[in-house]
Amino acid sequence: MRLSRYFLPVLKENPSEAQIVSHRYMLRAGMIKQQAAGIYSWLPMGFKVLKRIEQIVHEEQIRAGHIPLLMPTLQPADLWRESGRYDDYGEEMLRITDRHKREMLYGPTNEEMITDIFRSHVNSYKDLPLTLYHIQWKFRDEIRPRFGVMRGREFLMKDGYNFDLDFDSAIHAYNRHMVSYLRTYERMGLQAIPMRAASGPIGGDNTHEFLVLASTGESEVFYDAAITDLKFGDRVVDYDNREECEAIVKEWTTPYARTDETHDEAIFNAIPEDRRRSSRGIEVGQIFYFGTKYSEPMGATVVTADGARVPVHMGSHGIGVSRLLGAIIEASHDDKGIIWPEGVTPFHVGIVNLKQGDSSTDPACEALYRELSAKGLEPLYDDRDERAGAKFATMDLIGLPWRITVGPRGIASGKVELTCRRTGESEELSAGAAVDRLAQIYAQI
Ligand code: ATP
Ligand code: MG
Repeated sequence: MRLSRYFLPVLKENPSEAQIVSHRYMLRAGMIKQQAAGIYSWLPMGFKVLKRIEQIVHEEQIRAGHIPLLMPTLQPADLWRESGRYDDYGEEMLRITDRHKREMLYGPTNEEMITDIFRSHVNSYKDLPLTLYHIQWKFRDEIRPRFGVMRGREFLMKDGYNFDLDFDSAIHAYNRHMVSYLRTYERMGLQAIPMRAASGPIGGDNTHEFLVLASTGESEVFYDAAITDLKFGDRVVDYDNREECEAIVKEWTTPYARTDETHDEAIFNAIPEDRRRSSRGIEVGQIFYFGTKYSEPMGATVVTADGARVPVHMGSHGIGVSRLLGAIIEASHDDKGIIWPEGVTPFHVGIVNLKQGDSSTDPACEALYRELSAKGLEPLYDDRDERAGAKFATMDLIGLPWRITVGPRGIASGKVELTCRRTGESEELSAGAAVDRLAQIYAQI
């Protein structure tokens, strides 16, 4: 993409409504625009990151054997009357009446609807286990929408639902989700710690929240520092193997890590003092096992091998896709702007032409652009007629992990400069070597 043809409405001033750094940088970098309290348009660069995050979530869900589908945002109220949640949900639910006076709602979550799909089409234990998920907009009429996309009213969530014959199999589904989530967040350059949590309105006993440590987080968390040393890395997991998934869950749930809702001082104080940590955290996901809470009242049953009809065991598992943009920025920025991890960056590399219109730098930048694209990388070429300082400031603000700077003096000696956004370190090398280096870096992501 050439910046002169892109739509990147960067703001020079700090927007006064933004209280935290991720919100400030998302507005300044022209990623989002607020349309109403907690409701945002996703401008091209914000939309690009959102899509990258979505893509990682899809890939990891599919890897775990979960099946994507798409349910609508609007739901009939009657479905929620069956589970008893229509009245319980309260003011967070946006209720709508259509022209025929039928009661509808903008879905805050989809347990009822997925249970309805299941009961309409599945009848036998032979069709289990089954996990279906979608990535769809939700609406919760939050009392205090704030911090930009972190606590929106309309927000994008991945929500998945498992259907299993019995408790053990449903716990395997729970474990499978935890493993797939660990991998998902790590690919986004995040450390999200699974913490024992309380279940809230969805109900159920087994539940973990995934928290990214950040001083601006809304949750209070307590943990053993040992958990921050754990890395998922590139291990290959057989998601059908119960023992293997269980072992990984055990590895991550053995060190103490809880939110304030389940925090237990006595257990916490038994951890060696130098490893005891309390901090703030951003909830980027949550997994639940809730058994037959929905399948029983809604009649989601299967016939077992010996002919009995039983309600299925279910769980639901959510990732805050749009909140993740904020969480990643909270975890990865400096005073100049965002620092995107390679896994989610909107463009792989920025090209800065120090002297636009120059007979040596223009063709060199064009050639770089072509060669990077040929390697499957997406460059953002700042081809505007601007001062070098302004171009650098824009690149730093939007946070592409790598920048190639092309100037007349460098070109004269056959060199460009490759700069790492995170470390600020630069290196002079030939254009070809810079392209190869980047191709190598991204091949490992
Ligand atoms: P919170 O406690 O932050 O209100 P929740 O526990 O009600 O969230 P869940 O039902 O667990 O949310 O939804 C799954 C995920 O969706 C959450 O872990 C979070 O990352 C994201 N999420 C929930 N509410 C919002 C919101 N208002 N704006 C953006 N993301 C949200
Ligand atoms: Mg939650």
